[in-house]
Amino acid sequence: EAAKDPGNSFARYDASMSDRLNRWMGIRSQLQQAIHADEFTVYLQPKVEIQSGNVTSAEALIRWQNPTMGIVSPADFIPIAESTGDIMALGRWVLSEAARLVQDPGLPDQFAIAVNVSVKQFGDPRLIDLLADISRQLEGSQRKIELEITESALMLESIEVKRMLRDIERLGFGVALDDFGTGYSSLSYLTQLNADTVKLDKSFLDEIPVNTKHAAFVSSVIHMAKTLGLKLVAEGVERVDQLEWLALNQCDAVQGYLFSRPLSFPDLLTWLEGRPKVTGLAVTPGNWVPA
Ligand code: C2E
Ligand code: MG
Ligand code: MG
Ligand code: MG
Repeated sequence: EAAKDPGNSFARYDASMSDRLNRWMGIRSQLQQAIHADEFTVYLQPKVEIQSGNVTSAEALIRWQNPTMGIVSPADFIPIAESTGDIMALGRWVLSEAARLVQDPGLPDQFAIAVNVSVKQFGDPRLIDLLADISRQLEGSQRKIELEITESALMLESIEVKRMLRDIERLGFGVALDDFGTGYSSLSYLTQLNADTVKLDKSFLDEIPVNTKHAAFVSSVIHMAKTLGLKLVAEGVERVDQLEWLALNQCDAVQGYLFSRPLSFPDLLTWLEGRPKVTGLAVTPGNWVPA
C-alpha cells in the first residue's frame, strides 16, 4: 500500500529516520557517563578446539544496559563511540576488565581472553601504558590476553598502526586478525602481520557446506593459515553440519551459538565446569552438541 500512496510512505520514511537519529543522539549523549554509572558488562563467548574438544579461551564482548534505552547492541554503539572518541576510555575499560577476569582463580590455568581493539584506539597513548601495566601483572603469561583487530579497518602502512603493533608484540600479547575475508587486502596482510590467530568471518561460514564457492574459499584459508603457522578460528558457527565440515577440513577452533552464546563471567565458569570431558577426535555430533 505504501507504493500506492507516496505521501504516506514518505511520512513513514521520515518517521523512521528521525527515530534512528534520536536513538543515535541518545546513544551519543549517554555514552560518556555510562562507564562511571557502571552500565557496561563484559560477556564471554567460549572458543572450542575441534580436535580435542578443549575450551582454552573466550572472547570478551561488551554489553550495555542503559536505564532509559535498555540493552544497546555493540554493533550500534561501538561505531558511535569510535566517531566521538569515547572508544578510547571504553576500550581501556574492557581491556582492564578482561585482565582482571583472566586472573580469576576460578578459570583453568592458562585460560585466555581475547579483547576486541578498535583501530581508533591505536591513537590512544594511555592504551600502551595500560598494556604495559597488564603485561607486568601477567608476568610471563601475557598470552592470556589476545588482542583482536578487525582486518577491514587495518591500515598496515600507517605509522601509528605499525608502532602499536610493534608495542603489542614487544609486550608479548597474542594478536588475532578479526572478521577475516571482509577487508580488501586479506591475503597480503596475513604475510605482513605478526598474528597468531585468524578469525574467519561468519558470512563465509553461514552457507557451509552447500555453498561450494564459500567452501572453496574457507578451505583455502584454512590451508594457508596452516602453511603460515596461524591458528584458524571459525566465527558464528550455529549448526552441526558446519562443524562437521570444518572438522573434516582441519579447522582448529570454532566459536558460535552451537556451543554457547556470550555468557556473563559466573555463567562461563558454570558452563566450563558442566562440560563433559571429551577425548580424541570429538566430531561425533552426540559428543558435541549440548542437549
Ligand atoms: P566480533 O568481534 O566479530 O564478534 C563476534 C560477534 O558475533 C559478536 O556479536 C557475537 O555475539 C556474535 N556471534 C557469535 N557467535 C554467533 C553465532 O553463532 N550466530 C550469530 N548470529 N552471532 C554470533 P556482538 O557481541 O553483538 O558484537 C558485535 C561486534 O561489536 C563485534 O564483532 C566487535 O566488532 C564489536 N565489539 C563487541 N565488543 C567490543 C569491544 O569490547 N570493543 C570493540 N572495539 N568492539 C567490540
Ligand atoms: Mg572479535
Ligand atoms: Mg569477528
Ligand atoms: Mg564482526
